[in-house]
Amino acid sequence: MNTENTDASQEFLDSLPELGPTDTFLFACGPEVPCFNCCCAELTLPLTPYDVLRLTQHLEIDSERFLNSYTQLRTFPDTGFPLPLLKMQEGPGEPCPFVSPAGCRIYEDRPGACRCYPLGRATSVGENDTIAERFFLVQEPHCHGFDTGRHWTPKEWLANQETEPYNLYNDKYMRLMAMVKASGKPLESRMSSMAVLCLFQLDKFREFITNMHVFKRVSIPEERQKAILEQPEATLDFAFDWMELILFGQSPTLQKT
Ligand code: SF4
Ligand code: SF4
Repeated sequence: MNTENTDASQEFLDSLPELGPTDTFLFACGPEVPCFNCCCAELTLPLTPYDVLRLTQHLEIDSERFLNSYTQLRTFPDTGFPLPLLKMQEGPGEPCPFVSPAGCRIYEDRPGACRCYPLGRATSVGENDTIAERFFLVQEPHCHGFDTGRHWTPKEWLANQETEPYNLYNDKYMRLMAMVKASGKPLESRMSSMAVLCLFQLDKFREFITNMHVFKRVSIPEERQKAILEQPEATLDFAFDWMELILFGQSPTLQKT
């Protein structure tokens, strides 16, 4: 499972069969498959800001506790952006911390990569900021999901797995990273820490907004200000705009006062 768009993951995706929009694949996964749960272990599972938003909500814990307990923080080498990896449990088989004999304990808020599997989704920023997507089939020998089930187009599979909000916010993250990569200036450590705060610690970012009087420095309608301080999705949306503003001095949706 891998959705990060580093050169290495791009190379991996390029080695897989690509699926066009009308191509289909046979797949079903559930307790009835003989390999049930076997893929929820020994994973390098990068978490995106939206994954962390959903997981902290599900677990009802603050972002600091989540990052400390459940992740190992790395950085993307080409951009300096934070890359939290979900920590597998120590011991035999290194299972995911959320797997149980009955399946995924956090199923309704599982990360985007778990939802997408067995599809790999590669994205790139096209003209006028449009996001172009390509799909690849990750057909691993141990996975019996390909033996049964129904046929899915990539779009049908993603709709079934409810990936829409994940892709929406993950694409915003990808776009920001693509901008930094194109600038040839990876984030320095201070800015990388700022990105952790803004994108992966929405509870602390809200405190920062209030304490640093951020709304006095940018022009934002009152209604949006209220949403940013109350709704995690609106906070994250603002975080992407804010990061763009502080990194590049401008953002399409934010004006300095
Ligand atoms: S989060 Fe859930 S679906 Fe994803 S690897 Fe862990 S147990 Fe499996
Ligand atoms: S290996 Fe494939 S079929 Fe088996 S549990 Fe994982 S995704 Fe499902």
